[in-house]
Amino acid sequence: MKQLALVLLVACGARDHHVYRLPSACQDADDAAEAEACGAWLLDEMMTAQLGVYEDPALERYVRRVGERVAAESGRDDVDWTFRILDDPGVQAWAAPAGFVYVTRGLLAFLDSEAELAAVLGHEVAHVAAGHTEELLHRLPEPSMRDLDLATLFQLHRDDEAQADQLGVQYAAAAGYDPSGLQRALAALHQPGLMEDAPSWSDRHPPLAARLSLAARAAGPDPDGRHGRRRYLEAVAGLVVGRDPRRGVVAEGRFVHAAAGLSFAMPEGWEHPEDWEPGQLHTQWFRAWSADESMGLLFLPLTHARGSVLEAAIEAEMERAPTRERRIAGYRAVEGSLPVDDGKELHFNGGVAAVRMLIVHARDGHRYGLMVAANRTEDGSHGDADALYRAITESFRRERRPPTRARRIRPRAIEAATRVDELIRDGCARSDEATLVALLNELEAESVVPAERTIKCLAP
Ligand SMILES: [Zn+2]
Repeated sequence: MKQLALVLLVACGARDHHVYRLPSACQDADDAAEAEACGAWLLDEMMTAQLGVYEDPALERYVRRVGERVAAESGRDDVDWTFRILDDPGVQAWAAPAGFVYVTRGLLAFLDSEAELAAVLGHEVAHVAAGHTEELLHRLPEPSMRDLDLATLFQLHRDDEAQADQLGVQYAAAAGYDPSGLQRALAALHQPGLMEDAPSWSDRHPPLAARLSLAARAAGPDPDGRHGRRRYLEAVAGLVVGRDPRRGVVAEGRFVHAAAGLSFAMPEGWEHPEDWEPGQLHTQWFRAWSADESMGLLFLPLTHARGSVLEAAIEAEMERAPTRERRIAGYRAVEGSLPVDDGKELHFNGGVAAVRMLIVHARDGHRYGLMVAANRTEDGSHGDADALYRAITESFRRERRPPTRARRIRPRAIEAATRVDELIRDGCARSDEATLVALLNELEAESVVPAERTIKCLAP
């Protein structure tokens, strides 16, 4: 996926903002525990702001139950564990200081049993329990409208990964799960076709062969235990797979964000990230840019996180600018423009940019930010930014219905042995989803599904 650097260099350490805390404030905390809590809170805010929290209380409880069961075997009774499902179709899991463990809904979609989930959670719990995550506190970025560089941020040592594999399997086995869960999870997440060029959970770790033999060794001679496949498939029934069209899609020349309850016209000839590929992270931030890349826009939820670090950050920026209130598509909004004459330059894609910003109090009280950036033209004016911003904001419309519906997991019990392609013809999924269904079930298109097996089909 094409990445375009958009803009906002937000927090300014010299100013005294009490609304949100900066990483430097976390590092200056009085004791190590306070610094850890502060850094973990800040990181959690940024993770949930960028990737979103998947809203399914039953599934959330389920993941927490499995996670707590595994974490209870880690011997770290002093840690307050938090297990979050992030609303992203990518296949990832992360551990952060102070007991934060994240899994994406994409990871949950591709796993196939509770034992596999327990193994993945066990691995992440082990990173916290063994103290591997502490170094993350020194890499905390400032809160800003820049993407978190997740690959660098969560990069841990190979040795730590191997140790987490081993400990994770031990925790899962002690919690009563089939210790082959890690092997199965790794095999599922390493299928060819899944995440070919996107880094994935399994790629951040030691090579598969090494991991499989390690996992087998850690599993010991008695692999009898519990898989919990039926429970797992019940828990993930209804889970969204792939992009969620409620959270922003381009259709018929308009960007439609049904969750926000609005849409706007895309500038003509602009580009935006292509469709989602299985396994790729997608994030909640929508970007688009002109063909010559001198102009771009960013639309993002500001109140997706538990707090509103990003909103505080963008508001801090807007404090520098003259702002005015307006109504847009019937919603209350505040707009402002930068730079003002304070000697601080903004950059977009290598050029000196003018930025127009809008905070809209959209559907259900949630707030969203729109930033439009245009590089300064040759005559030194910012005319392009104004015209562009006006065209976009004047095209705002209320929109409550996404152009298409999300695809969701619908488990189906197969009575007689059937080939995957026959199942597709039989309505298990759309004909263009045969490969995806095969991946979700760790099968191939020509595979025969044995009788009385339940598989994950897809439907709205
Ligand atoms: Zn790891």
